[in-house]
Amino acid sequence: MKYLIKGKLYLPIKMGDPRDWHQKPDDVCHDCGATYGQYHTFGCDTEVCPCCGGQLISCDCGAIYQVNGNISKKALADLCKLQVIQTEAEDLEIKNTISRNKIKYDSKGQSGNIFFILAKVKLVMKQEGREELFKKCEERVYASSSYKEALKIINEYVQLEDVHVGKEEEAE
Ligand SMILES: [Zn+2]
Ligand SMILES: [Zn+2]
Repeated sequence: MKYLIKGKLYLPIKMGDPRDWHQKPDDVCHDCGATYGQYHTFGCDTEVCPCCGGQLISCDCGAIYQVNGNISKKALADLCKLQVIQTEAEDLEIKNTISRNKIKYDSKGQSGNIFFILAKVKLVMKQEGREELFKKCEERVYASSSYKEALKIINEYVQLEDVHVGKEEEAE
């Protein structure tokens, strides 16, 4: 199995590989349970991206596909096209959610999940060069005791807009 990342094939990084975050032979991955020399399970939060060296599940490489080692050239070419389309679609979606640096979310829907919101906050603050401050924000959100408190903290750093409230106003 290989990963198709940005149109190129890469071997996944195993536990203990020079670029893996685990280096000791007795290390066990806290997320997927892989041991030294094994592959992480796809979606594991400590797997390193073989393309950029970042965290595979959150890096900026765009859509990532798992590909069978003996894939035909034709199938690979088709997959590359699909990857470009999917990556562009995801970029567009992100830009839409971050219109004028206001982060839209739906407090009654899936986009209201604090971790979804934090992922967008990270993008906005990164664009603004406030990555260090984001870490502080993230820490405070993790330490907060309720959904409401978490939102209040995030609001100190970026402008949040609950689209659910907007929907109610329109209905009145
Ligand atoms: Zn793992
Ligand atoms: Zn990457």
